[in-house]
Order: sequence, then C-alpha cells, then structure tokens
Amino acid sequence: MKREACGSLRGKDAGRKVTLAGWVHRLRDLGSLTFVDLRDESGLVQLVFRELPQARKLSREDVIRVRGTVARREAPNPDLPTGEVEVVVDRLEVLSQTRPLPFSLEEEPPRASEETRLRYRYLDLRRPRMQRNLRLRHRTSMAIRDYLDRQGFIEVETPYLTRSTPEGARDFLVPSRLEPGKFYALPQSPQLFKQTLVISGVERYFQIVRCFRDEDLRADRQPEFTQLDLEMAFLEAPEELFALIEGLLAYVFRETIGVEFDTPFPRLSYDQALSRYGSDKPDLRFGLELVDVTKQFSASEMRLLREAVAAGGRVFALRVPGGAGFSRKELGELEGVAKTYGAKGLLWLARGEELRGPLAKFLPDPEPLWRATGAEPGDLLLLVADAFELAATALGQVRLELGRKLSLIPEGKWCPLWVVDFPLLEWSEEENRWSARHHPFTSPKAEDLPKLMDPSFPTERLGELRANAYDLVLNGVELGGGSIRIHRREVQQRMLEVLGIGPEEAEGRFGFFLRALEYGAPPHGGIALGLDRWVMMLAGEESLREVIAFPKTASGACPLTGAPAEVDPGQLAELGLEVKGD
Ligand code: ASP
Repeated sequence: MKREACGSLRGKDAGRKVTLAGWVHRLRDLGSLTFVDLRDESGLVQLVFRELPQARKLSREDVIRVRGTVARREAPNPDLPTGEVEVVVDRLEVLSQTRPLPFSLEEEPPRASEETRLRYRYLDLRRPRMQRNLRLRHRTSMAIRDYLDRQGFIEVETPYLTRSTPEGARDFLVPSRLEPGKFYALPQSPQLFKQTLVISGVERYFQIVRCFRDEDLRADRQPEFTQLDLEMAFLEAPEELFALIEGLLAYVFRETIGVEFDTPFPRLSYDQALSRYGSDKPDLRFGLELVDVTKQFSASEMRLLREAVAAGGRVFALRVPGGAGFSRKELGELEGVAKTYGAKGLLWLARGEELRGPLAKFLPDPEPLWRATGAEPGDLLLLVADAFELAATALGQVRLELGRKLSLIPEGKWCPLWVVDFPLLEWSEEENRWSARHHPFTSPKAEDLPKLMDPSFPTERLGELRANAYDLVLNGVELGGGSIRIHRREVQQRMLEVLGIGPEEAEGRFGFFLRALEYGAPPHGGIALGLDRWVMMLAGEESLREVIAFPKTASGACPLTGAPAEVDPGQLAELGLEVKGD
C-alpha cells in the first residue's frame, strides 16, 4: 500500500486503512496499550498499539513502518492538525533502530551546546523548528527566482575556482595540482564575473551564489555564505534598481510570511543616517534621534568639548525622555557602550529639579541646548564629542542600547530603507593608503568624477568624494549593498591607481577585466543581498546557524565532518606543498 503523509490525516479519513512510515517522536507505554506519535516531514499523528508487545520496545527516533486503521479519537487534541484521529496499528515493522540520543530533540530552545547540535546535525535538523527554517529558506529562494524570472533576469553560474576578487576580506586559496605553486582563490563575490556577463550581453543577470571570505569570525558571520547577486545593463542611476528590489522584497515577504511593505522605501544619505541615527544601517523602528549640537558648544568652557570642535569634530546629543532619574550605574553602563565604540567618554546632563551632570557647571545658559534638543524637565541628555563618524557611531550605539533597555523596539514592525551617497574611499591607517569603501569597481557620483580624474586634486581630500553606492537596510540590519559601476577603462585604471594599484599590478590582477571594458561595456550596476541574513529575519531567528543546514562554528569548524582537517602527505606532495612545523 502507498505510504501516506502522517500530517495529512483528518476526521474524514476515519475507517480507512493506511500505511505510514516515519520516526518515533514520542512514546507512552500503558502496558497493554502503547501510544506513539509518529513523525514524518508532513507532521505528527498518534498511533495506538493494542496487544503489540513489539511496540513497547521502541525508542524515540526509531524508524518504523505501520499499517493500521484511522479512527476518531475519544479525546481529540486541538493543538495538533491531526488531533481528531489516531491510527490503530495492526502491523509494525522496525526499519531502523537508533542508538540512545545525545540530546533531547524536544527542548525549545535546545539545551545541547551548539557544538553538539552541529556534530549531530542530522538529529538537530529533525526538530520541527529547523524543518520549518529549511522550508522557509527554500520558499524564499523559489520566490526570488520566480520574481526575477518574471522581470526578465536569467540565472547564470560563475566559477568557484577563480582569481581573487577584492571585497575587503582574505581569500580562501586552493592549490593547483597541475601548476604547482599556483593557486585558485574562492570568490569573495562574483563581482567581476557579473560585470563581465553584462559586457557579454546578459542584460539582466542574477545568481543565488555561495561567497567565501576568510575573516576573523564574529558571532553573525560565516566563512561561506549565500548571496542573491544581481547585475543590470544600462543602469545609470539607482532608482530603477531600487524599484526592482523593493518589489522583490515586498513579493518575498508576502509569499513567505504574509507581511506587506509600503513602497517606495525611505532614503537617507550616509551623512544623514549617521547624523540622525549614529549608524549607516539605522534601525528606524524607533525614534530617539541624535541632534547635532556642535554649534552650541563651539565656545564651551569645557576643554574636551572645545577641543573636539576646534579639531573639526562634532558634538552629538541624545535626548532620553524622562531619563533624568537614571542612576550612576545605568549611566556608567551606557558610557561603557560609548567607549567600546571609541568615544573618550559619555557626557550627561539631567534636567531635573536642578541641573546635574559633568556638563552642568559649564553651561551658564542651557536654554539654547533645550531648544536644539527639545529636552524638557525630567529629561536626560547624553553627549559625545569627537570626529564626525566616531562621535555619531558611539552615540548611535548608545541609542540602540537605550532602544533595547527602554523596550522602544516594537515586535513585528518592518522598517526598510536605502542608505545612499556613501564615501567612495576611506583612509586605511594600517596600510597608510586609500581603500575602496564598497569595492574598487564602484563609480563616483557624476559630480565627483572630475575630481577623481584630476591628478592635481589633493590626495588628502579624496575622502570627500561620494560614491554611487547604496545599501539596503532592514530593522538596523544591512541586507545588502551595491553600486553603479565604473564602465570606462580609464576611470577604472585611475581608481586602481588611487588605491595604490599601479598599471603593472592592475594588469596582473585585473587585466582581463580592464580589457573587457575596452570592448563596448554598457553602463551597468547591481547589488547583492545576503540570503542567510534575510531568511534569518523572515524566520525570526537570532543566529545565521539556525537557517543554514550545515553551518560552521564561530571558529570556522564543521563539527559534523571535522573540517578543516589535515591531509595526507601524499596529497600535499602532489600539490607541491609542505606544511611548516611550529
Ligand atoms: N559584490 C558586492 C558585494 O558582495 C555587491 C555588489 O556590489 O553588487 O558586497
């Protein structure tokens, strides 16, 4: 008899003979009567074994096949879709027995360590929550493909064994056996291939693709991760792409979790995002905006403030309504946050019955400050003074901390936005040179192009140039980013030169691409969105590992397979490699 889905049985099936197979989810042995919840992909159903002693020997997670008759339950279980029925078993076959389980699959959240969950991932993935996440991920990919296909995009695969593509991380290298001493790099992104595809006449490309970045891992990073990567020919301004991606996001959210989005999404320039929210990925689910009070403190008697302003820095303030009563301890904790992000300190001013805080005695007339910040009696002001980005970022982190602490972040609210007009370049202290803020193939804004191309433009002012780059941000999380690209060889060459890559090195690393730009490259641009993070948000999970079938630990290991692992000396010899001892 054909196997039926456990989760599909309903009251109308009563009386039918069925064959089911699956895992023993739960077991209750009442002597002459044994109850088993049988689980397969589709769900759970209760089995009843009468006078079948074999059943008493079953264990959770054994795999069985049963034949039986569907019957209405005397006491239906309203929490289970199949709760109206049970299956009275007349034949039981044990297909596979399990060893004792290393952890319970029922605890939510699981008590087992991450390491144990990953080592026994095949058990961990059986948990309904993980099954739901895998399916949600599948549906997300399907919705993306469906939408982009209808918009005229085609999916093209690009190589994994390739040359280095600079996205600002270290490469994973793969030694070549046929050419000892040479290496492939796994792609940090398909950036140059997708641009080459557009030059090849693929006007709308996308790919759901694995990218590899060898970075020091943080809790929310994986060395290999999946992007929705996309590129369009004849894209000269981002608006067309914004509309497309907004439509995509709206479609995927509707199809997967039934959430509707308002479009168009708001846009903020990088400067606005930093000045108002202290972040280039602002969380717009709550207010608590920063205020620039530099003007109010330009002649302050407090040295720290005066000096910061004199050095070209800024003073930002955050008004905490009703916060005048914050304890020293609370203020100390907030200061800790600001300091973690590089601030020298967190100044505070409480507008209580009297003025309190380190700033109070330096403020002969607080009125202009109240006006600028809207501070009312009972409020608290928190201030950071430093260079623009540092001051804003440190106070932005304090804002986020307050958002959590004061429960200002509503559940179930979705606030997407575009952040635009990023700096083109940023100064790398370590390397003592300019580096690309996005990547070296990003074009400057049209009005800044002449400055980039002008060899007499002062190098130290290159930080003023803005890029035609944009990020998509959702609830304070960067979902992805992209840019309008450079499509003229001389501009690309100049950009590389500014980054300290001379013509010879440029030829060696990117010669193939520079040449492609000489053969009729249309204007183009694109974006990449992090699929893992996107699914994580759809699933309401806090960790990427909950939405990746076989993720790595924070130290880049795979406890299931034991990767990375040593290889045998023969393999190394074939590759012309030798591992140096300590
Ligand atoms: N390649 C870029 C990245 O991986 C995205 C893009 O510019 O399209 O972030």
